[in-house]
Amino acid sequence: MITVLSGGTGTPKLLQGIKKIVRPEDLTIIVNTLENNYFSGVYVSADVDTVLYTLSDLINEEVWYGQKNDTFNTYDTLRELGYNETLRIGDKDRALKIQKTLLLEELSLQEAIKIQKNALGIKSEVLPMSNQQSNVEIDTTEGLMSFHEFLITKQAQPEVNDVIYNEVTPANGVIEAIEDSDHVIIGPSNPITSINPIIMMPGVKKALKKTYVTSVSPFIGDSTFSGPASKFMLAKGYEADPVGVCRVYDDFLDHYIINNSDKKHISKINKIIPKVSTENIILNTIDEKIHLAKVILNI
Ligand code: GDP
Repeated sequence: MITVLSGGTGTPKLLQGIKKIVRPEDLTIIVNTLENNYFSGVYVSADVDTVLYTLSDLINEEVWYGQKNDTFNTYDTLRELGYNETLRIGDKDRALKIQKTLLLEELSLQEAIKIQKNALGIKSEVLPMSNQQSNVEIDTTEGLMSFHEFLITKQAQPEVNDVIYNEVTPANGVIEAIEDSDHVIIGPSNPITSINPIIMMPGVKKALKKTYVTSVSPFIGDSTFSGPASKFMLAKGYEADPVGVCRVYDDFLDHYIINNSDKKHISKINKIIPKVSTENIILNTIDEKIHLAKVILNI
C-alpha cells in the first residue's frame, strides 16, 4: 500500500507518474483541505478536486485546477448580471462543486468525496485530511487577510509575518492509511499550507514515524515553480530552499529527493536526515513524472 500526502499542484504532477506504476487499489491520497470554503454559493475543495481530476485524467494541466476543455458560460453570465466571481469556475467543474455542496447538506466531506470519486471511476482511495472546516489567516504587513484574499485579490504581493490556522482532527481512515502503508510519499507541495496542515493534525506525525516516508522538494535552489511557498517558509522561520523543506519534515522523513542542480545542499541536509538523493525533479513530461515515481518507489 502506498499513501500520498497532497496539495493541489506539485504533488498531483507526481501523482500522474505514480498512477502509471501503482495499482489504483493500492493507492491512497490524503488531501489538504486548509483552504476549503464557500465561493459564489458553492463549496470549493480545490485540492481535493484537483486530485479527483488528476486521477480521472480530466485535470486542466495549464492551471492545475478545474477540468480541461471546460466552458465558462455560467461565469460569463454571472459577470453580465453584475456578479464578479473571485474564482473563475468552469461549467463542468461547477457541476462537481454543486453536487458536493448538495451532498454536504446530508453527508460528511469524506462521504461526499467517496460518491464523487466512484462516479468518476476512481479506484484509489481519496481522503480529505479532515471533515472539519479549517480557518486560515495570513498575517501580512497589510494586516490579517484570508488565504484567498492574499493569493487572488492581492496576488501574493504583501510581505507575510505568519500563517495562522486552527487544529482539526483527521478524517476517518487517515491515520490507518498511513500506518498500513509500506511507503508514504510527500510530493513537492507547499510545506506550510498544503502538507503541514495534514501532518500537524493529532496522531499524524506519530503514524508517519512508524512508516517509511519519502519527500520531493518543491524548491530548486531558492525558487519555487509556482505559488507563495517561499514567503510562507520564511515567515515560519525556515530557509526558503530544499534544506528548509527538509527541516519541516525532519521528525519523520526517511528519504529526501532534491534536484540535480542542488548537490551543494547535500552535506547540510545529511546533518538533518541520512538519505538524500539528487534527481531531475522538474515534472513537465509524463516520462519525467514516471521516472521520478520509479526512483521513489525503487522500481
Ligand atoms: P497548491 O495547493 O496549489 O499550493 O499546490 P501544492 O502545494 O501541491 O504545490 C505547490 C508547490 O508545487 C510549489 O511550491 C511548487 O514549487 C511545486 N511544484 C510545482 N511544479 C513542480 C514541479 O514540476 N516539480 C517540483 N519539484 N515542484 C513543483
